[in-house]
Amino acid sequence: MTNKKHIATPTRTKEILKKYGFFFKKSLGQNFLIDVNILENIIKHAGINKETGTIEIGPGIGALTEQLAIHAKNVVAFEIDQRLLPILKDTLSDYNNVTVIHQDILEADVKEVIEANFAPDQEVHIVANLPYYITTPILTNLLRNRLPVSGFTVMIQKEVAERMAASPNTKSYGSLTIAMQYYTHAEVVMHVPKSVFMPQPNVDSSILKLTTRTKPPVDVLDEDYFFSIVQACFAQRRKTLRNNLTSYFKEKYNKETISTILENIGIDGTRRGESLTMEEFATLANAFFRGI
Ligand code: SAM
Repeated sequence: MTNKKHIATPTRTKEILKKYGFFFKKSLGQNFLIDVNILENIIKHAGINKETGTIEIGPGIGALTEQLAIHAKNVVAFEIDQRLLPILKDTLSDYNNVTVIHQDILEADVKEVIEANFAPDQEVHIVANLPYYITTPILTNLLRNRLPVSGFTVMIQKEVAERMAASPNTKSYGSLTIAMQYYTHAEVVMHVPKSVFMPQPNVDSSILKLTTRTKPPVDVLDEDYFFSIVQACFAQRRKTLRNNLTSYFKEKYNKETISTILENIGIDGTRRGESLTMEEFATLANAFFRGI
């Protein structure tokens, strides 16, 4: 297939928008990709081949969907905007390995969709140029549901990608980092200029790859408790651990008890949340969970 035929070019995209009188809805995070090279990079980093099953979130007019149809075995795409359904039917009419589901991804039973559309032993990868207004809820939801997928390769806001892939003792490191890295190995694979989108977003973007872990890197006694403690430790970034934990536990534990628990596990209460590794957060959460 020649480049000219691809959906992801400024000319073809404009043609399609004009043909259907389509206007962008900012509220749905509609910034379409108009650069085939970027799409090829997404496909390459996702490690997709002719055996891979893929799930796309938000196909738009089909720019990325088309590349997935070409390079993967099959594609299931969730699109919330009803106006795009007839357009996708038209733009993807050459491909018989694409299924479009008209649904809000946050309401979808993705596990059931995986069972219905992919073979039990087939590798499934989630690929998307995500609507930025709900990047975090989408990824958090999908990860918490422990979907049987090899990972996610997604275009998201640069700053958010950096937070998800951050290391301790950096400005980007926070509770979002822990939430992502508990379930996956996170890596920013590439920064992307605004010019590859139509319309151009206000923020910079990056491609993030999240590779699902077979098991979490730490043992925690209670996951919800662990994530709450992590959040509490970052509640006020400039405050010490001891002070953040004192505010969090209020009546349950006073400052002295908190200091004793921290001493018992060998974590200095004057440190800040951003200096703690995932292992240290696990030790801390488990100690408070046990109440010792
Ligand atoms: N994949 C296309 C591309 O790269 O050109 C479009 C990407 S655009 C950034 C995001 C897409 O997600 C839009 O088509 C939008 O309508 C859709 N979308 C927004 N919120 C959604 C949701 N909650 N569930 C499913 N799709 C959604």
